[in-house]
Amino acid sequence: MIDEYKNIAPKGDLMLLGKLGETLRSRSFLHVNSTREGGGVAEILHRMIPILRELGIDARWEVIEGDARFFDITKKIHNALQGNEEIMTEQMWAYHGEVNERNAKKLNLEADAVLIHDPQPAALIHYRKGGIWMWRCHIDASGPHMAVWNALKRHCEKYDAAVFSVAKFARALPVEEFIIPPSIDPVSEKNRELTAGEIDEAANRFGISRDRPVLLQVSRFDRFKDPIGVIKAYRMAKKYNDCVLVLAGSPASDDPEGEAVLNEVREYASDDRDIIILLLPAFSDRDINALQRMATVVLQKSLKEGFGLTVSEAMWKEKPVLGGAVGGIPLQVVHGVNGFLVHSTEGAAFRIRQLLTNPAMAKRMGERGKEYVRTNFLITRQVRDYLSMWYAMEHRGKRVLDL
Ligand code: UDP
Repeated sequence: MIDEYKNIAPKGDLMLLGKLGETLRSRSFLHVNSTREGGGVAEILHRMIPILRELGIDARWEVIEGDARFFDITKKIHNALQGNEEIMTEQMWAYHGEVNERNAKKLNLEADAVLIHDPQPAALIHYRKGGIWMWRCHIDASGPHMAVWNALKRHCEKYDAAVFSVAKFARALPVEEFIIPPSIDPVSEKNRELTAGEIDEAANRFGISRDRPVLLQVSRFDRFKDPIGVIKAYRMAKKYNDCVLVLAGSPASDDPEGEAVLNEVREYASDDRDIIILLLPAFSDRDINALQRMATVVLQKSLKEGFGLTVSEAMWKEKPVLGGAVGGIPLQVVHGVNGFLVHSTEGAAFRIRQLLTNPAMAKRMGERGKEYVRTNFLITRQVRDYLSMWYAMEHRGKRVLDL
């Protein structure tokens, strides 16, 4: 499996990965999050666990269980960390703690290194059984609602380390901090090369006519992804450049707001037959791949964004990306080089038109995007970083005397 990356990932990453694998062989590495499907965290864990295992590391992935009340609470925490004014009562925090306690009793939390993803399972730290515990924040925490952040911090500061995707998300915590951006897997079903036949088949099945340029946004139906803003931008651009818009999303089991947002989007799209809204089942990886490959321009017009895997996914397929200038998107989109960063609906419409009227420029941007992802955002780099972090944490404070 690691061999599959040989001619794709940067050689230096693979060499270091091999060495780290030898050093940490047979040690245990546990990941805990709150969903097996939907969203970027699950996407990465599905691909990363087998790679860690192949390196000889005893990697495990556990998922905490919660009921609707728990996920309503954790979605509020998520929204508050991304800046929304949310009221979180002490009872809500108590319930968050209770569900974590229940999970702690059921899960095997023993491991040499433990990475807890996002706020949902953050309170598991109180049940640690040895090992190095690291809290991984995938959320755009650049401007959180402070009361909620301060309450969550009670858990985060008990960890040995905290990991953020983007430097400006790192909050002042009395623990070691690391900045590690997420990544995509170039050999997964979502990102592998597809034949023209495979792409055509998906286009026909979804009723997407390719006689006009295709604009695409792939996202959970979440207001921070601004699907309504995408429709507005498409409508402005369409007055001058005919095109179709595809909005593709699927439900995430830890996101209770999806259905309401989907209904808002359907209503706003109204009877425009050139807007295709696709609600895909979980694990529609090949279909997402095909949609990204048939797109002329890919949008990720988020208002807040932890990282935005969809950006790197599209860039890997040589697509120019229009991204909101927020969160992890500016790490990936170099404005005017491999895509455009936008700050408004009008800005998005303007850049859509610019790309549709300059196909040669769009193509050049797409090509640069792929190379940028190859150097910076492949999964081999992220596994390398996680193992380096673990190694560094274990050797903290130890002086190397036998140089
Ligand atoms: N995704 C998917 N199906 C969908 C919508 C999204 O498989 O209908 C995937 C998408 O390809 C990406 C991940 O879910 O791999 C979303 O990650 P991102 O970081 O963009 O956003 P998040 O959902 O984590 O906020």
